[in-house]
Amino acid sequence: MGRKFVVGGNWKMNGDKKQISEIINTLKTGPLSPNTEVIVGVPAIYLEHVRTNLPQSIEVAAQNCYKVPKGAFTGEISPAMIKDIGVNWVILGHSERRQIFGETDELIAEKVAHALEAGLKVIACIGETLEEREGGKTEEVVFRQTKAIAGKIKDWSNVVIAYEPVWAIGTGKTATPQQAQEVHKALRQWFCTHVNADVGNSIRIQYGGSVTGANCKELAAQPDIDGFLVGGASLKPEFVNIVNAKQ
Ligand code: PEP
Repeated sequence: MGRKFVVGGNWKMNGDKKQISEIINTLKTGPLSPNTEVIVGVPAIYLEHVRTNLPQSIEVAAQNCYKVPKGAFTGEISPAMIKDIGVNWVILGHSERRQIFGETDELIAEKVAHALEAGLKVIACIGETLEEREGGKTEEVVFRQTKAIAGKIKDWSNVVIAYEPVWAIGTGKTATPQQAQEVHKALRQWFCTHVNADVGNSIRIQYGGSVTGANCKELAAQPDIDGFLVGGASLKPEFVNIVNAKQ
């Protein structure tokens, strides 16, 4: 079955109103392939501004949220709040959340489950560190991270997996198309075996880690790469080329 190509931009903690206007203009001018679903991950404080100013054909995502609808959790935002301002997606489990803010597999799985219950769609990030890759543990790690989520959710139709090797994020060191394909294929097989074949065949798996306008086409040509999650290059005009990588 067809898996629609899906490209996310993760702005991280970057951008001000001036730069965001420039990015919005770039996205509006495109042209963006109608065959690609485009989602921009925006700092929380600018979510409503970006949602209001982008055409509805471009989706907007929060970069994080908490695991309950409301309450005494100073500084957090909930999926209900994200939905309330017309935003439909959230990125969860990014390696910066895992590594800098100490988020565990368990917490990320709880957040994914609650975000889905609240009606958001989720980009769930997984990926191994350099040490884990060099120790031959890549599959063990990404399967463990995925299994934690699988323990808390049943319906995967609103989930996109982003496989982002930590050693490739923001380093300029991209996984080769073969390295990425190998992990994507193993993940799809994991879903077939541990969830079911329908989910395995239909779930979209993005690659993330130093994707650029120059390397995106070769990565996009791999059979199990269904899109990208893009950090640095999502702030630049070349993001348009990445969106169109599969054309
Ligand atoms: C990311 O932040 O998810 C990412 C992949 O960053 P970059 O593209 O800059 O490596």
